[in-house]
Amino acid sequence: MTVPYETELSTAREAVREATRLCRQVGRALRDGAFEKSDRSPVTVADFGSQALICRRLAEAYPDDPVVAEEDSAALREPARRPLLDRLLAEVARTGIDAGAGEVLSWIDHGGAEARGRRFWALDPIDGTKGFLRGDQYAIALALIVDGRPVVAALGCPNLVLADGQAPGVVALARRGDGARAEPLDGAGDRARPLAVSPLADPAQARFCEPFESAHSAHDRAAAVAAALGIARAPLRLDSQAKYVAVAAGLAEIYLRIPRGERYEEKIWDHAAGTLLVEEAGGRVTDITGRPLEFTHGRTLAANAGIVASNGRFHDRIVAALG
Ligand code: AMP
Ligand code: MG
Repeated sequence: MTVPYETELSTAREAVREATRLCRQVGRALRDGAFEKSDRSPVTVADFGSQALICRRLAEAYPDDPVVAEEDSAALREPARRPLLDRLLAEVARTGIDAGAGEVLSWIDHGGAEARGRRFWALDPIDGTKGFLRGDQYAIALALIVDGRPVVAALGCPNLVLADGQAPGVVALARRGDGARAEPLDGAGDRARPLAVSPLADPAQARFCEPFESAHSAHDRAAAVAAALGIARAPLRLDSQAKYVAVAAGLAEIYLRIPRGERYEEKIWDHAAGTLLVEEAGGRVTDITGRPLEFTHGRTLAANAGIVASNGRFHDRIVAALG
């Protein structure tokens, strides 16, 4: 008997690994000075390239599954953007995939589906674009959502180090009910290790992480929550869903994302993969009011506000401190 979603997980893993190679390739070119300075074109090329490669794999393996991705190709189709499109085609070709403009644009557009129906994929081709540009943390995030719940997650974190002495770069994988694991980006998947949250039960000893960008989370409110829990350690500030992997791997016990004054609806592709990874590693994920995340409202988590991910040992106390 086949295990549910086993083939979906292996497709997602391959797709994310391939896209991660393209992103690293563009990142290296960026650091080698191959792009204009202070220009967003490298992130645009990597973003569209990542989406194209992942959608290509998904369209091939699951042609009927909608893919809800962050980007659409409209901007790339403008004649003035032709140099950017040519650069994208060159980067795709460098990964060993031979394709013309029409094909690549159609792969990108495969990601333009609505978040409706029983089963769809959510994709963030580059999560943490600011981290990517800084040479810091970023992620390639893919999740399969069925009946409003993420059931498969593949998250590539090209610059994440999970243990001292290891080379940067992991791909974190999870299937609902089957646990989570991480494997090195370089080399074979047989070095995968299980992901398990930290067993720490004393919140005062906890480490918490939060977005690097203060526009994405109220750092001052997070500091007040930390103080209420007796946490003395400074927060770990990272871009992207690498924060969820940090919690899933036990590098941190808490991830706080606290909305600023104005109403912001979190995007499903920023949280679907990370949520499943933390849950399957033994942790808990809710919004800042303690409500479970609802992946049933289209492209956003419209019924939720912010995020609390934790090792689960003092989750309710964190939520209470936020109240
Ligand atoms: P992070 O790297 O954790 O800061 O998250 C990056 C994500 O933040 C991006 O992919 C955006 O979708 C999302 N984002 C953009 N604006 C906001 C905002 N005002 N509040 C929270 N998240 C945002
Ligand atoms: Mg994102």
